[in-house]
Amino acid sequence: MSSASLNSNDIKAQALRLGFVACGLAKAEPVADSFARRYQHWLDLDYCGEMDYMRRNVEMRLQPDLLVPGVKTIVSLAMNFMPEKPQPAISLYAQGKDYHDVMKQRMQELMQACNLEGRCFVDTAPVLERYWAWKSGIGIVTQSGLVAVPGYGPTVFLGELFLTAEADHYDQPLPNSMPEEIGWTKVCPALTPEGLDARLCISYQTIEHRGPLPEELELKRTFYGCDRCLRATPQFAESQPTTEQAFQPSEALQKMTADDWESLTEEQYRTLFKGSAVKRAKFDGLKRNIERWLKQLKP
Ligand code: SF4
Repeated sequence: MSSASLNSNDIKAQALRLGFVACGLAKAEPVADSFARRYQHWLDLDYCGEMDYMRRNVEMRLQPDLLVPGVKTIVSLAMNFMPEKPQPAISLYAQGKDYHDVMKQRMQELMQACNLEGRCFVDTAPVLERYWAWKSGIGIVTQSGLVAVPGYGPTVFLGELFLTAEADHYDQPLPNSMPEEIGWTKVCPALTPEGLDARLCISYQTIEHRGPLPEELELKRTFYGCDRCLRATPQFAESQPTTEQAFQPSEALQKMTADDWESLTEEQYRTLFKGSAVKRAKFDGLKRNIERWLKQLKP
């Protein structure tokens, strides 16, 4: 397959058949200078907090052929995760099964169906996924920094195929008709004009950060992740429930109340979050979050 060109229409048709809501193809060229400079500046400001992996392999992030030698085409894919009846205390993206597993399996099926050569990535390799989503024309990067896919809003997971063949057609970025500047630092201080300051972000603190939560951190609606900027993004109005059963919460999770969370045992935690991305915070981390959340809920 590597000498023949990729049939972009076939890849897109198969992607839709497999449940992706958007698929676009971009040439695997080095990341544009303006994006690369912004990323480097973001690192220089220490906005990545303890996520040291963001500092590693910077060159690889900016130059796709350092990650996959011989890569010619990057296929960007999006899957709708908007749950129908979410458990309100957990971020919308983490209600069902771990998206890494669901997306990866579906992307492997796509590679098989179209006989593609290359590798697939879901959020676990040095790939600037939001840049590639923009470049391949599947969405726009909103002022809140999220990627919004037309018709589905920002409630999407992203994944990329790095393929070693040229394609018969490449997509163009979508025109970005940005809405009025709505003052993101007022929505959340973590959303600075220079990008997300993870150290101030509830999502980062409740998922990635180990050890005690900062004293001043207020958890209001959710104790795992945070959806405030997602919901404040104007394109959130376009979000619609996903047809993917894997991203719906189980009935048991959906029905959990504040009292149930307060008495959560490790055994319940294991059952409730089997195969879920919530396990990233570990039981102790989740209990730490719940404790803070309850303190503010029942002062
Ligand atoms: S996830 Fe929450 S805390 Fe983080 S930037 Fe968005 S609104 Fe702010």
